[in-house]
Amino acid sequence: LVVLENVNKHFGDLHVLKDINLAVARGEVVVVIGPSGGGKSTLCRTINRLETIDGGTISLDGRPLPAEGKALAGLRADVGMVFQSFNLFAHKTILQNVTLGPVKVRKIAKADAEREALELLERVGIAAQAQKYPAQLSGGQQQRAAIARALAMKPKLMLFDEPTSALDPEMVSEVLEVMTSLARDGMTMIVVTHEMGFARSAAQRVVFMADGQIVEENTPTEFFTGARTERARDFLSKIL
Ligand code: ATP
Ligand code: MG
Repeated sequence: LVVLENVNKHFGDLHVLKDINLAVARGEVVVVIGPSGGGKSTLCRTINRLETIDGGTISLDGRPLPAEGKALAGLRADVGMVFQSFNLFAHKTILQNVTLGPVKVRKIAKADAEREALELLERVGIAAQAQKYPAQLSGGQQQRAAIARALAMKPKLMLFDEPTSALDPEMVSEVLEVMTSLARDGMTMIVVTHEMGFARSAAQRVVFMADGQIVEENTPTEFFTGARTERARDFLSKIL
């Protein structure tokens, strides 16, 4: 579904992505893990073209990522993204947050968008919060709302960038449960996280990134019990 070939990215003199090659199949769940500053967020942002790349190619569904205009808006609609900070619109209700994209971008009738939004809010367990504003929700509820908002666009791919790292510990599992059920339903997902429980239960593959490179790709079980590279073992010894 997504293929990155020899992707390179610089910020000035800083070489943030170095010859990244990564292919994610439809329905696959890939966890990206690695030290701070390794390029994980930048990698996610290049996939929905929040960042441009200066070498290599990225394609979605066999087509290169569009550079601008309508095609770019279409790409953004096809790739859902959930960030560490929930990024909900503060002055809109949860329901309005979820229906905005489908109505504006997908041109869905408001009543249909609202019906679908309520189904999604039900699915992530916050239907009762539909008329509230983001600030009235807990962090875990806000993040589930952000997931519902991304899903409302019916994306082909979901990118998650440390979706639970800003949450109080007791709220982490409710968000991971939603993500796990999404994975079971066959959503294609790239998830930057250090949550090993999630990696073990939901991911097919772990990609370890450091210094802008993919240092190791492995199954979750092998990665956490016997990583092949010294670099990965060293990292794991610090977070475990
Ligand atoms: P973390 O685990 O802390 O989130 P990360 O693996 O997500 O780290 P990135 O955010 O992708 O890392 O950053 C990779 C490198 O690129 C870092 O050195 C960072 O300072 C730099 N960087 C990221 N965004 C920019 C930007 N807009 N301009 C300049 N440098 C940037
Ligand atoms: Mg990051």
